[in-house]
Amino acid sequence: MKDVRTGSEGQCQRKRVFIRTYGCQMNVYDSDRMADVLRPLGYALADTPEQADLVVLNTCHIREHASEKVYSELGRLRDTKAERRAEGRDLTIAVAGCVAQAEGEEIARRQPAVDIVVGPQAYHRLPELLAEAERKSAILRAGKRLPGAGVLDTEFPAESKFDHLPSPQGVRAGSAFLSIQEGCDKFCTFCVVPYTRGAEYSRPVSAVLAEAKLLVAAGAIELTLLGQNVNAYHGEAPDGSTWSLARLIRELAEIEGMARLRYTTSHPRDMDDDLIRAHGEVPQLMPYLHLPVQSGSDRILAAMNRKHTARDYLKLVERIRAARPDIALSTDIIVGFPGETERDFEATLALVAEVDFAQAYSFKYSARPGTPAAKMDEQLPEALKSSRLDRLQQLLARQTHHFNQTCVGKTFPVLFERAGRQSGQLIGRSPYLQSVHAEADSGLLGRIIPVEISGAGPNSLTGVIRAA
Ligand code: SAM
Ligand code: SF4
Repeated sequence: MKDVRTGSEGQCQRKRVFIRTYGCQMNVYDSDRMADVLRPLGYALADTPEQADLVVLNTCHIREHASEKVYSELGRLRDTKAERRAEGRDLTIAVAGCVAQAEGEEIARRQPAVDIVVGPQAYHRLPELLAEAERKSAILRAGKRLPGAGVLDTEFPAESKFDHLPSPQGVRAGSAFLSIQEGCDKFCTFCVVPYTRGAEYSRPVSAVLAEAKLLVAAGAIELTLLGQNVNAYHGEAPDGSTWSLARLIRELAEIEGMARLRYTTSHPRDMDDDLIRAHGEVPQLMPYLHLPVQSGSDRILAAMNRKHTARDYLKLVERIRAARPDIALSTDIIVGFPGETERDFEATLALVAEVDFAQAYSFKYSARPGTPAAKMDEQLPEALKSSRLDRLQQLLARQTHHFNQTCVGKTFPVLFERAGRQSGQLIGRSPYLQSVHAEADSGLLGRIIPVEISGAGPNSLTGVIRAA
């Protein structure tokens, strides 16, 4: 069946873009902003690549597996493009995000069907890149030769992309992301972020406040502040002073209608006293903190260039819990970093046992080209990394399940975000970021409603709406 909005014989020439997002919440935010950039060019969102004239893959390069998925998807899109061309139509393929930044021209070499490669700092230039891609495509369609296919923009421009983006459009069910900080100068030895996202940059306070107010006016009651090192935020204020994340949070909490604030991802080194105090003092700041530790072994932490020890982390957790006793802690852990011994790994298990995380993300170390750890001796065999990951995940899963069980019988304010799989069911978030399933009318989407928790699974809660 031909989609009238994309069909060549349709009356309506409105174009459609499909954006597939890989990786972190920063990419989700960037994808939304790319949609905002493309809207004035006449692009509406498509639900599938098949419906689209333009497909953007917003990619993640953090682990090898993440970038390989992109190449498989590009193979499928090449076939769709070839079918379209046989019918006299076209499909424009763009690769955005961190794979685009890290691999640049290599992408167009590996997959010549790609028209545009655009890094995370340059997507405000998408309109120019599209125009250039269309010009090249017209030359090729006319049977002429062209030196070098594809259009590439992986610069770190001097101007900030944030100054060139249109205002965000629309808010999904009460909750919105707001990017306040990008890039990283910490250079953990395993990580590609400093190379793909560039140097640390904090958006000015006035820009953040203006965007927050717009989002609240558009229906947001919860904002999640984003940054690769969000708690390193140091934005310039209108009076020339520098605001920390804690200062910014206190100001955002004053916006009328702002019910919930969250932030992610934080580095332990940047958890200052002010920010810890804010957790005890700002009621809108939700009692959930994602604080990656990466390892429990000081030897491995030093080799990772984390610049904190296991004891530093444990003391920090103590201070955070003293400020906000019910805080739910989450973390990231890498197993199988080069040279990790059984003893190092056991130190990680011991730290996890001591902290008792409510939630955690754990990964096998993945060597990333260009990072110092990729060149280290003693890369560990996959089988060993897998068995350690398995052991760690069993412990983490027990902790998450236990935390969920402690919630049964309590009543939480739940922000309903989306429809559940079963009809008549909605899924929302507790203050501790757990998914909560409840029978609820779709009119409650985007609202915070008291829910009594009646059941706890390994990864989510079920509950019953309590009469207000
Ligand atoms: N800025 C955060 C911090 O300092 O912990 C981390 C951001 S990073 C985008 C998200 C997570 O991916 C990291 O915390 C780490 O656990 C994981 N990660 C990064 N590089 C990795 C690699 N080479 N192999 C496996 N996991 C990796
Ligand atoms: Fe990567 Fe986070 Fe380390 Fe920066 S602080 S290099 S983003 S892991």
